[in-house]
Amino acid sequence: MNQTRKILIIEDEPAISRILKDYLSKYGYEIAIAENAHDGLLMMDLLQPDYMILDMMLPDMDGIDLCREIRSRSNVPILILSARGSDTDKVLGLGFGADDYMTKPFSLSELLARINAHFRRYDSMLLPPAPENKDLLQLGAITIDKRAHMVTVDGLEVALSATEFELLYYLACHKNQVFSKIQLLDAVWGYTSYGDESTVTVYIRRLREKIEVKPSAPVYLKTVWGVGYKFSQDDGR
Ligand code: CA
Repeated sequence: MNQTRKILIIEDEPAISRILKDYLSKYGYEIAIAENAHDGLLMMDLLQPDYMILDMMLPDMDGIDLCREIRSRSNVPILILSARGSDTDKVLGLGFGADDYMTKPFSLSELLARINAHFRRYDSMLLPPAPENKDLLQLGAITIDKRAHMVTVDGLEVALSATEFELLYYLACHKNQVFSKIQLLDAVWGYTSYGDESTVTVYIRRLREKIEVKPSAPVYLKTVWGVGYKFSQDDGR
């Protein structure tokens, strides 16, 4: 989850590649820069980047030809930086393998948001799906009835909002498995919502207040420091 993602930038304008490198590095990405297509392809084979950003206009190769060349070797996601609005049609229309594009001048925060969104989608695809046939979960004193959307603790019904229920159900379906806040955001809220990680914290706190005997010392919804949360199923039931 926390391994550093490598992004290779192929861009012949040092002013732009330097800004990109400084900015994306700050957010934890490892950045390599090539100034032409030839070097870019060599570095790609060498570094095996997780993501590539290509300038459309390079000194030795057209961005579209470069994109095709990359696609013939790898499925790495490609974002194209194009200088002119008219290129947009080309980028979108030709279907030569780019995943995304931005027109210069572009916003760094927008670029970062797109890259982050890509990796969040990617990570969420690696998440285990909720097991089937789990309409009724009995975990210690807690019963979760998926169909009725009902939760009871020691036989007493607890009123949960729809999202609280989904979060509890997801964790309970994967008991004793630790999830990061980002993973829970993706799984419960959906990757399309650019939710704040603190949302998860708030919902966990609310759930604890509703299902735990002592919310400050939770038995079920445990914090795993530095990682995230898990639904713990202890033996004493
Ligand atoms: Ca250029």
